[in-house]
Amino acid sequence: GVIWYDGKMVPWREANTHVLTHTLHYGMGVFEGVRAYHAAQGTAIFRLKEHTQRLFRSAQILNMPIPYSAEELNQAQAAAVRENGLDSAYIRPMCFYGSEGMGLRADNLKVHVIVAAWEWGAYLGAENMTRGIRIRTSSYTRHHVNAVMCRAKANGNYMNSMMALQEALACGCDEALLLDAQGFVAEGSGENFFMVQDGVIYTPSLTSALDGITRRTVIQLADECGYTVKEKTITRDEVYVADEAFFTGTAAEVTPIRELDGRKIGSGSRGPITEQLQSLYFDVVKGKTAH
Ligand code: PLP
Repeated sequence: GVIWYDGKMVPWREANTHVLTHTLHYGMGVFEGVRAYHAAQGTAIFRLKEHTQRLFRSAQILNMPIPYSAEELNQAQAAAVRENGLDSAYIRPMCFYGSEGMGLRADNLKVHVIVAAWEWGAYLGAENMTRGIRIRTSSYTRHHVNAVMCRAKANGNYMNSMMALQEALACGCDEALLLDAQGFVAEGSGENFFMVQDGVIYTPSLTSALDGITRRTVIQLADECGYTVKEKTITRDEVYVADEAFFTGTAAEVTPIRELDGRKIGSGSRGPITEQLQSLYFDVVKGKTAH
Protein backbone atom coordinates (compact mmCIF):
# COMPACT_ATOMS: atom_id res chain seq x y z
CA GLY A 1 0.00 0.00 0.00
CA VAL A 2 0.89 3.68 -0.08
CA ILE A 3 0.74 6.56 2.38
CA TRP A 4 0.37 10.24 1.52
CA TYR A 5 3.40 11.90 3.15
CA ASP A 6 4.05 15.63 2.85
CA GLY A 7 2.39 15.88 -0.52
CA LYS A 8 3.62 12.64 -2.12
CA MET A 9 2.44 9.06 -2.16
CA VAL A 10 5.17 6.85 -0.73
CA PRO A 11 5.22 3.06 -0.29
CA TRP A 12 3.86 2.01 3.14
CA ARG A 13 7.27 0.65 4.29
CA GLU A 14 9.07 3.84 3.36
CA ALA A 15 6.67 6.15 5.20
CA ASN A 16 9.11 6.51 8.09
CA THR A 17 10.29 9.22 10.43
CA HIS A 18 13.45 9.74 12.51
CA VAL A 19 13.64 8.52 16.12
CA LEU A 20 14.21 12.15 17.12
CA THR A 21 10.83 13.17 15.72
CA HIS A 22 9.73 15.92 18.09
CA THR A 23 6.13 14.69 18.45
CA LEU A 24 7.36 11.23 19.46
CA HIS A 25 9.06 12.83 22.46
CA TYR A 26 6.67 15.58 23.49
CA GLY A 27 3.31 14.44 22.12
CA MET A 28 2.38 17.67 20.34
CA GLY A 29 0.40 16.65 17.29
CA VAL A 30 -3.14 16.49 15.94
CA PHE A 31 -4.99 13.84 14.01
CA GLU A 32 -8.31 12.64 12.67
CA GLY A 33 -10.13 9.35 12.27
CA VAL A 34 -12.36 9.17 9.22
CA ARG A 35 -14.25 6.35 7.53
CA ALA A 36 -15.10 5.65 3.91
CA TYR A 37 -17.97 3.28 3.16
CA HIS A 38 -18.16 1.53 -0.21
CA ALA A 39 -15.89 4.09 -1.83
CA ALA A 40 -15.33 1.84 -4.83
CA GLN A 41 -19.07 1.94 -5.53
CA GLY A 42 -19.12 5.73 -5.40
CA THR A 43 -20.17 6.42 -1.81
CA ALA A 44 -18.13 9.35 -0.57
CA ILE A 45 -15.91 9.49 2.51
CA PHE A 46 -18.33 10.14 5.36
CA ARG A 47 -18.30 13.79 6.56
CA LEU A 48 -14.88 14.36 5.00
CA LYS A 49 -15.11 18.14 5.10
CA GLU A 50 -16.15 18.18 8.77
CA HIS A 51 -13.24 15.94 9.73
CA THR A 52 -10.74 18.08 7.82
CA GLN A 53 -12.22 21.19 9.40
CA ARG A 54 -11.83 19.67 12.87
CA LEU A 55 -8.20 18.79 12.04
CA PHE A 56 -7.54 22.45 11.22
CA ARG A 57 -9.31 23.56 14.39
CA SER A 58 -7.27 21.13 16.49
CA ALA A 59 -4.12 22.54 14.85
CA GLN A 60 -5.31 26.09 15.54
CA ILE A 61 -5.79 25.24 19.24
CA LEU A 62 -2.24 23.83 19.41
CA ASN A 63 -0.92 26.74 17.32
CA MET A 64 0.48 24.31 14.78
CA PRO A 65 0.28 25.71 11.24
CA ILE A 66 -0.68 23.03 8.70
CA PRO A 67 1.24 23.73 5.47
CA TYR A 68 -1.57 22.47 3.20
CA SER A 69 -5.05 23.67 2.36
CA ALA A 70 -8.20 21.86 3.45
CA GLU A 71 -8.84 21.01 -0.20
CA GLU A 72 -5.39 19.45 -0.53
CA LEU A 73 -6.00 17.30 2.54
CA ASN A 74 -9.45 16.29 1.31
CA GLN A 75 -7.86 15.16 -1.93
CA ALA A 76 -5.08 13.38 -0.05
CA GLN A 77 -7.67 11.38 1.92
CA ALA A 78 -9.59 10.43 -1.21
CA ALA A 79 -6.32 9.45 -2.89
CA ALA A 80 -5.25 7.31 0.08
CA VAL A 81 -8.45 5.28 -0.25
CA ARG A 82 -8.35 5.09 -4.03
CA GLU A 83 -4.65 4.32 -4.48
CA ASN A 84 -4.81 1.55 -1.90
CA GLY A 85 -7.73 0.00 -3.77
CA LEU A 86 -9.93 0.18 -0.66
CA ASP A 87 -13.70 -0.05 -0.67
CA SER A 88 -14.46 0.57 3.01
CA ALA A 89 -11.63 2.09 4.99
CA TYR A 90 -10.49 3.90 8.10
CA ILE A 91 -8.48 7.00 7.23
CA ARG A 92 -5.91 8.56 9.51
CA PRO A 93 -4.58 12.04 8.78
CA MET A 94 -1.95 13.19 11.28
CA CYS A 95 0.13 16.35 11.69
CA PHE A 96 3.35 16.19 13.66
CA TYR A 97 6.55 18.10 14.29
CA GLY A 98 9.62 16.55 12.65
CA SER A 99 13.19 16.02 13.80
CA GLU A 100 14.37 19.50 12.76
CA GLY A 101 14.97 20.38 16.40
CA MET A 102 14.99 18.88 19.89
CA GLY A 103 13.84 20.24 23.21
CA LEU A 104 10.75 22.23 24.07
CA ARG A 105 12.41 25.43 22.89
CA ALA A 106 13.10 24.25 19.35
CA ASP A 107 12.01 27.05 17.04
CA ASN A 108 12.83 25.52 13.67
CA LEU A 109 10.23 22.76 13.68
CA LYS A 110 8.28 21.88 10.56
CA VAL A 111 4.75 20.49 10.57
CA HIS A 112 4.61 17.24 8.61
CA VAL A 113 1.40 15.61 7.46
CA ILE A 114 0.60 12.00 6.67
CA VAL A 115 -2.61 10.36 5.51
CA ALA A 116 -2.86 6.58 5.81
CA ALA A 117 -5.86 4.37 5.06
CA TRP A 118 -6.58 0.75 5.84
CA GLU A 119 -9.46 -1.68 6.13
CA TRP A 120 -11.02 -1.75 9.59
CA GLY A 121 -14.15 -3.57 10.70
CA ALA A 122 -16.26 -3.00 13.81
CA TYR A 123 -13.87 -1.29 16.25
CA LEU A 124 -15.40 -2.80 19.38
CA GLY A 125 -16.11 -6.22 17.83
CA ALA A 126 -18.76 -7.27 15.30
CA GLU A 127 -20.83 -9.29 17.78
CA ASN A 128 -20.87 -6.38 20.23
CA MET A 129 -22.78 -4.28 17.71
CA THR A 130 -25.87 -6.33 18.59
CA ARG A 131 -24.95 -7.69 22.02
CA GLY A 132 -23.53 -4.50 23.48
CA ILE A 133 -20.30 -3.92 25.37
CA ARG A 134 -19.37 -4.02 29.04
CA ILE A 135 -17.71 -0.87 30.31
CA ARG A 136 -16.14 0.34 33.51
CA THR A 137 -15.85 3.75 35.11
CA SER A 138 -12.24 4.79 34.89
CA SER A 139 -10.06 6.00 37.72
CA TYR A 140 -8.57 8.39 35.17
CA THR A 141 -10.56 11.54 34.58
CA ARG A 142 -10.98 13.18 31.19
CA HIS A 143 -8.48 15.92 30.47
CA HIS A 144 -7.99 16.88 34.08
CA VAL A 145 -4.57 18.19 33.12
CA ASN A 146 -5.64 20.30 30.18
CA ALA A 147 -9.32 20.89 30.69
CA VAL A 148 -9.67 23.46 27.93
CA MET A 149 -8.07 21.26 25.31
CA CYS A 150 -10.70 18.59 24.71
CA ARG A 151 -11.89 20.39 21.56
CA ALA A 152 -8.60 19.41 19.97
CA LYS A 153 -8.12 15.88 18.72
CA ALA A 154 -4.53 16.04 19.88
CA ASN A 155 -2.08 13.17 20.28
CA GLY A 156 -1.25 14.18 23.86
CA ASN A 157 -4.85 13.73 24.98
CA TYR A 158 -4.71 10.03 24.23
CA MET A 159 -2.29 9.04 26.94
CA ASN A 160 -5.22 9.40 29.30
CA SER A 161 -7.44 7.40 26.95
CA MET A 162 -4.88 4.61 26.73
CA MET A 163 -4.50 4.39 30.51
CA ALA A 164 -8.27 4.28 30.97
CA LEU A 165 -8.73 1.67 28.26
CA GLN A 166 -5.93 -0.55 29.57
CA GLU A 167 -7.46 -0.39 33.05
CA ALA A 168 -10.89 -1.39 31.66
CA LEU A 169 -9.43 -4.25 29.61
CA ALA A 170 -7.49 -5.52 32.61
CA CYS A 171 -10.83 -5.80 34.44
CA GLY A 172 -12.30 -7.86 31.62
CA CYS A 173 -14.37 -5.01 30.15
CA ASP A 174 -14.47 -3.79 26.56
CA GLU A 175 -14.11 -0.04 27.05
CA ALA A 176 -13.73 2.65 29.71
CA LEU A 177 -16.10 5.41 30.77
CA LEU A 178 -14.17 8.50 31.78
CA LEU A 179 -15.58 11.08 34.17
CA ASP A 180 -14.74 14.77 34.13
CA ALA A 181 -12.91 16.55 36.95
CA GLN A 182 -16.21 17.08 38.80
CA GLY A 183 -17.15 13.40 38.59
CA PHE A 184 -19.76 13.66 35.85
CA VAL A 185 -19.77 11.36 32.84
CA ALA A 186 -17.51 12.70 30.06
CA GLU A 187 -16.91 10.11 27.32
CA GLY A 188 -15.24 6.85 26.36
CA SER A 189 -11.55 6.55 25.46
CA GLY A 190 -12.47 7.38 21.85
CA GLU A 191 -16.27 7.67 21.84
CA ASN A 192 -19.03 10.05 22.89
CA PHE A 193 -21.58 8.79 25.40
CA PHE A 194 -25.39 8.71 25.19
CA MET A 195 -28.08 7.30 27.47
CA VAL A 196 -31.85 6.90 27.17
CA GLN A 197 -34.31 7.37 30.01
CA ASP A 198 -38.09 7.31 29.56
CA GLY A 199 -37.73 7.84 25.81
CA VAL A 200 -35.51 10.93 26.16
CA ILE A 201 -31.94 10.81 24.89
CA TYR A 202 -29.21 12.43 27.03
CA THR A 203 -25.57 13.17 26.27
CA PRO A 204 -22.95 15.15 28.20
CA SER A 205 -22.22 18.67 26.97
CA LEU A 206 -18.91 19.37 25.27
CA THR A 207 -17.05 20.79 28.25
CA SER A 208 -15.14 17.56 28.75
CA ALA A 209 -15.76 15.57 25.58
CA LEU A 210 -14.68 15.83 21.97
CA ASP A 211 -17.15 17.46 19.58
CA GLY A 212 -17.79 14.15 17.82
CA ILE A 213 -18.94 14.11 14.24
CA THR A 214 -20.83 10.86 14.83
CA ARG A 215 -22.41 12.50 17.89
CA ARG A 216 -23.68 15.35 15.71
CA THR A 217 -25.04 12.91 13.13
CA VAL A 218 -26.82 10.79 15.75
CA ILE A 219 -28.36 13.87 17.39
CA GLN A 220 -29.66 14.96 13.99
CA LEU A 221 -31.09 11.51 13.25
CA ALA A 222 -32.74 11.34 16.67
CA ASP A 223 -34.26 14.80 16.14
CA GLU A 224 -35.66 13.70 12.81
CA CYS A 225 -37.25 10.67 14.47
CA GLY A 226 -38.99 12.99 16.91
CA TYR A 227 -36.92 12.13 19.98
CA THR A 228 -35.96 14.78 22.48
CA VAL A 229 -32.18 14.98 22.81
CA LYS A 230 -30.83 16.87 25.80
CA GLU A 231 -27.30 17.81 26.80
CA LYS A 232 -26.94 17.50 30.55
CA THR A 233 -24.54 16.64 33.33
CA ILE A 234 -24.85 12.90 33.84
CA THR A 235 -23.91 11.05 37.02
CA ARG A 236 -22.80 7.43 37.28
CA ASP A 237 -25.92 6.39 39.12
CA GLU A 238 -28.12 7.83 36.37
CA VAL A 239 -26.37 5.49 33.96
CA TYR A 240 -26.82 2.51 36.33
CA VAL A 241 -30.61 2.98 36.15
CA ALA A 242 -30.85 4.13 32.53
CA ASP A 243 -33.03 2.25 30.05
CA GLU A 244 -30.31 2.21 27.37
CA ALA A 245 -26.81 3.50 26.77
CA PHE A 246 -24.53 3.65 23.75
CA PHE A 247 -21.27 5.08 22.44
CA THR A 248 -20.76 6.92 19.16
CA GLY A 249 -17.58 7.48 17.18
CA THR A 250 -16.15 7.20 13.72
CA ALA A 251 -14.39 3.99 14.76
CA ALA A 252 -17.09 2.69 17.14
CA GLU A 253 -20.00 3.88 14.94
CA VAL A 254 -23.04 3.31 17.22
CA THR A 255 -22.07 0.69 19.80
CA PRO A 256 -24.62 -0.39 22.43
CA ILE A 257 -23.49 -0.56 26.08
CA ARG A 258 -24.99 -3.44 28.04
CA GLU A 259 -23.23 -3.08 31.37
CA LEU A 260 -21.48 -0.43 33.46
CA ASP A 261 -19.43 -1.42 36.53
CA GLY A 262 -21.12 -4.83 36.68
CA ARG A 263 -24.64 -3.34 36.59
CA LYS A 264 -26.87 -4.40 33.73
CA ILE A 265 -28.22 -1.41 31.84
CA GLY A 266 -31.91 -1.78 30.94
CA SER A 267 -32.54 -5.25 29.59
CA GLY A 268 -28.81 -5.96 29.48
CA SER A 269 -28.65 -5.98 25.69
CA ARG A 270 -29.06 -3.51 22.83
CA GLY A 271 -32.04 -1.26 23.54
CA PRO A 272 -34.71 -0.45 20.93
CA ILE A 273 -33.84 3.24 20.48
CA THR A 274 -30.15 2.35 20.24
CA GLU A 275 -31.00 -0.24 17.60
CA GLN A 276 -33.09 2.25 15.63
CA LEU A 277 -30.39 4.95 15.67
CA GLN A 278 -27.68 2.41 14.86
CA SER A 279 -29.61 1.22 11.84
CA LEU A 280 -30.34 4.77 10.66
CA TYR A 281 -26.68 5.64 11.11
CA PHE A 282 -25.59 2.74 8.90
CA ASP A 283 -28.11 3.78 6.24
CA VAL A 284 -26.65 7.29 6.22
CA VAL A 285 -22.98 6.31 6.11
CA LYS A 286 -23.64 3.72 3.42
CA GLY A 287 -25.44 6.33 1.35
CA LYS A 288 -28.85 4.63 1.47
CA THR A 289 -30.38 7.81 2.84
CA ALA A 290 -29.14 11.29 1.97
CA HIS A 291 -27.79 13.57 4.69
N1 PLP B 1 -14.18 11.23 21.85
C1 PLP B 1 -12.87 10.99 21.64
C2 PLP B 1 -11.91 11.17 22.74
C3 PLP B 1 -12.44 10.54 20.37
O1 PLP B 1 -11.16 10.28 20.15
C4 PLP B 1 -13.39 10.35 19.35
C5 PLP B 1 -12.96 9.85 18.03
O2 PLP B 1 -12.66 10.61 17.16
C6 PLP B 1 -14.74 10.63 19.62
C7 PLP B 1 -15.09 11.07 20.89
C8 PLP B 1 -15.79 10.47 18.56
O3 PLP B 1 -15.65 11.47 17.59
P1 PLP B 1 -16.08 11.21 16.08
O4 PLP B 1 -17.50 10.80 16.11
O5 PLP B 1 -15.89 12.52 15.41
O6 PLP B 1 -15.19 10.16 15.55
